[in-house]
Parts: sequence; C-alpha cells; structure tokens
Amino acid sequence: MPEKIRINSPNVHYTERFIESRYSYHTTSVTQSGDTYTVTPHSTEFTFRTERHVPKLGVMLVGWGGNNGTTVTAAVLANKLGLSWTTKTGVKRANYYGSLLESSTVSLGFGPKGEIFVPFRELLPMVHPNDIIFDGWDISSMDLGSAMERAQVLDWSLQEMLRPHMSKLKPRPSIYIPDFIAANQEQRADNILTGTKAEQMEQIRRDIRDFKEKSGVDKVIVLWTANTERFSDIVTGVNDTAKNLLASIQNGGEVSPSTLFAVASILEGCAYINGSPQNTFVPGAVELAVQHGVFIGGDDFKSGQTKLKSVLVDFLVSSGIKPTAIVSYNHLGNNDGMNLSAPQQFRSKEISKSNVVDDMVESNPVLYKPGEKPDHCVVIKYVPYVGDSKRAMDEYTSEIMMGGTNTIALHNTCEDSLLASPIILDLVILTELCQRITFRTQQDSSFQSFHSVLSILSFLCKAPLVPPNAPVVNAFFRQRACIENVMRACLGLPPQNHMQLEHKMQ
Ligand code: NAD
Repeated sequence: MPEKIRINSPNVHYTERFIESRYSYHTTSVTQSGDTYTVTPHSTEFTFRTERHVPKLGVMLVGWGGNNGTTVTAAVLANKLGLSWTTKTGVKRANYYGSLLESSTVSLGFGPKGEIFVPFRELLPMVHPNDIIFDGWDISSMDLGSAMERAQVLDWSLQEMLRPHMSKLKPRPSIYIPDFIAANQEQRADNILTGTKAEQMEQIRRDIRDFKEKSGVDKVIVLWTANTERFSDIVTGVNDTAKNLLASIQNGGEVSPSTLFAVASILEGCAYINGSPQNTFVPGAVELAVQHGVFIGGDDFKSGQTKLKSVLVDFLVSSGIKPTAIVSYNHLGNNDGMNLSAPQQFRSKEISKSNVVDDMVESNPVLYKPGEKPDHCVVIKYVPYVGDSKRAMDEYTSEIMMGGTNTIALHNTCEDSLLASPIILDLVILTELCQRITFRTQQDSSFQSFHSVLSILSFLCKAPLVPPNAPVVNAFFRQRACIENVMRACLGLPPQNHMQLEHKMQ
C-alpha cells in the first residue's frame, strides 16, 4: 500500500523495499570546571532504512483469558467487524481511543490553511490493529467468549454480538508454578502443562511454531499480560548469564513462568514484551536476547495512575515547583486486584510504581539536593464490588514560592482493561515497526538494528527497561517526543522543535 505521506527532499528516497533517509543527528557534550560548563555541539550523519512491506502480524498473549487478553481481542474484533451497539447513553462505535499510534496525532507542518495533523500511524508503514491475529495461553481453560463475560468489561449487547466469534477461541495450556503468583489464583488453574521446566518451555516453543504455521502470519510477537508474579531472586550461577539461565531451565532451578516464556520466544526469534511488573528479564534473559538479536521490552503497562504521575511530575518539576509528597491509593476488584492482594505480588507492583519520578527529580538540582526525593507511597486494595473499574486517588503536595504549599488531589475512575488494551496494541505495533528499521553512521560498514532492549517502548511502560548504562526516562513528554522524532528521522525530517519562528517575526 503506498504511503499517505511522501517526503519531498533530496535526503529521502523511496526504493521498492525501503524508505531511505539521510539524517544529521545533533548532540552536545558537556565538560564542567568549577561552576563553568563548556558545551560542544556534535553532528553525526546517519542513514535510516525502513522496510516498506508491512507483514502479517500474529500476537500471542500469555494470560489470553484474562481481562486484558479478552478485552484487546474483543476490541480488535469489534473494530474489524465495524460494530456499533446501544447503551443507555446512546449508540457506541468500536474505536481505538487510548492508542498513541491509532488515535493521537502528530504535526506535519504548515499548509496554506494552517497546521496539518495526521494520525501517528500514518508517519511510517505500520501494521493496522484490525489485521492482527491473536492466539495465546492461559492457566484457565475458559474459552474467550465466557472469559469476556467473566471479565465484566464490555457492554452486554456488544458481548452478545462478539460471543459467537470469541467462543471459538481457546487458550493453550500454560506453565503454572504456584509459588510465583498469589495462592488465590489456584482455583482457575485447570489448563496447565506438565513435565519438567525444560519440557514445558519446549512445548511453548512448539506452540509458537504451530500458531505461525496454522495462521499463516509472517511473524509472531509474544506479550505477557498474565498475572503479576513475585520477583525472582537474582542468583549467581542461576540466572545471571544466558548460559546459566539455560542450564537452570534444564536442571529445574528457580526460573519463573514469565522468564520461561521469554526464553522460549527469544529462542524462536520472536520479540517478547512484559506487561507486568515482575523482573522477568533477569540478566541471563537480557543476555540471551542480545545474543539472538531479538527485541525485548517492558516492564508493566503504563496505563492510568502512573501515566498521570509521569505527566504531572513532569509538569510540576519543569515548571520549577517542588513535589515533596506523592501518595497514591488504588482500589480495584478484578482478578488482577485479587492477585495483587497477596504481599509478594503487591511488592512487585510497588517497586514498579516507585521509581517513576526519579529522572524528573534528578533533572532539577535547583529544587532537589543530590539524593533528595519526594516522599512516595503507593497503596493497592482489593474491593471486589468495583470489578474492573479501578479507582485511583492521588495527592501531590508541592513546595511553591516563599514557603507556600500546593496540594493537588485527584480522583480517577475507569475500566482498567480499556486503558491497557490500546497500550498492548501500541506495544506490538511499535515493536514490529522497529524490526523493520535499520540505520548506520558514515563510519559503519553495515546497517544495524536498535539494541535488543527496546527502550523506545518506554512511553508505554511503568518501569522502562533500557540497555545497560542507558538512562531511564519516565517523563511523559520526553518519551513521546522520542518516538515521534525517531520516526521523523526515518523520514529525514528534523526533530519537532515547536519554535514556530516564522510566526514570531515582524
Ligand atoms: P487478569 O487476572 O484478568 O488476567 C490475567 C490472566 O493470566 C488470567 O486469566 C490468569 O488465569 C492468567 N495467568 C496467570 N498466570 C498465568 C500463566 N503462568 N500462564 C498463562 N496464564 C496465566 O489480569 P488483567 O487485568 O488482565 O491484567 C494482566 C496483567 O497486566 C497483570 O499482571 C496486571 O498487573 C498487568 N497490568 C494491567 C494494567 C491495566 O491497566 N489493566 C496496567 C498495568 C499492568
């Protein structure tokens, strides 16, 4: 399909296979002597290549029968079928609201009638969510029609339209190690693999191959949206290197189900994304991904409260206001909430939510002394009655001018899975796009891909995974600008600078 956007520039050319752009990447290096900084600008010439052919994408979800798994599958189906349904407030139509790529826009520049905005997805050739084929695993054997009903997320009349399609979908048996998720999940675990860890992992590999073959997709991405596990201990000789991790799987050492899935995907050459907070990507798993040149990304979908935190603290700190206490309460009544009511699983979530303001705080030595941080407290309670409709209450207390105090209190209510589902789509679509982008500098003899740890996904993750020694960016606007500007680089366009000098001249 021809692209909707064509770049008219000597730096960009279109071949049968690629969009190829020449791009000057501008950076600065800084040295400090006493109170004086010396800043030196640098420019590196890059060539970016983006493959134009959009493949047929298959996505395998671990936890397919859960609230997120059923909701994202149902939403794609409803969009594909162009469904509309009536509720007490009127007619609703299937859409992809909440998806960065599908429902937010970017500016292309100015035309005769003013600024032109296009959906993010039109910048480069990307998979359309309607074309994704889903498959997956769950420890619960329930078909997706019944599981959608169990989730209590979608309007009933929509469920009735979708049920004939959804009921045909059945999750594959999965790896269940009770020690890793809350004991309260045991009653739904009726669809589980048996055998040693190595045998179970081999079965997951066979499942991936089986799905690929039967569905006819060109590539598969695997995404964990199953329950939050407890953290794995990082133990020398067990999971610290790729070799040790593979050996631990063979000899039955401590390896979590999510890490077994990650290893299976990596060995199958499939990107693996972790939508939950646990440390699936133990050092051995990261090393394995690098060795195999496979993308991994995570951790933990950034959907509601944390997304707002990464906006609000960005706004406060970059306005010169000093947040001193951030207190976040949540209550929710879905199965995720029940799992998180167990202390070890809550702890994984607490850790994932806790570092989200660090980069913003560290960016402002005017407000914070070295090592100083705002008080930050996260509470999650399980209240079955509210179901998937999660409540998040936050209080941000900040110091303002001359010893004054500013307190912002927020109350947020919404269906958790309707926020997470579009993020799942963005994660897989962006990952797939990155698999088609390569680049090189003038010094490089060949093109390379992004680092296996795909940090461009940070915008979509609460606790972004980044390559060793790379800075973690949580700030919302920086994360978004990163995605937009990388895509612009692929089109030979300069970073979005918002200067609008042409409108500031006499
Ligand atoms: P859910 O409990 O409804 O679904 C999880 C599913 O995973 C269940 O069907 C369960 O049977 C299955 N499962 C558990 N262990 C499994 C295993 N080893 N293999 C295969 N399946 C397994 O939860 P949810 O609301 O869909 O959330 C899923 C995950 O996403 C949770 O870890 C949650 O913390 C995370 N998350 C959700 C959001 C959100 O906004 N919904 C945001 C961030 C993170």
